[in-house]
Amino acid sequence: MTNRLYYELNDLVTLKKGHPCGENEWKILRKGADIKLECQGCQHIIWMTRMEFEKRVRKILVDGKWISIVHHHPEELD
Ligand SMILES: [Zn+2]
Repeated sequence: MTNRLYYELNDLVTLKKGHPCGENEWKILRKGADIKLECQGCQHIIWMTRMEFEKRVRKILVDGKWISIVHHHPEELD
């Protein structure tokens, strides 16, 4: 089993802690060693390392449903 997490640009995610503006919905604007996220409440931009992001991310919006990102495996790696 791999612990790799699956997320793509423009995916919407929630984090362990929401933004101080009261929103906890973030859009992924950049992937790589650093992840760029946009708060969907106030459009504030934050950056964090990929390691920090993968520690903090909780849910991802897939087909209109919020699911736990650790269970989101669209491409199996068998
Ligand atoms: Zn905000």
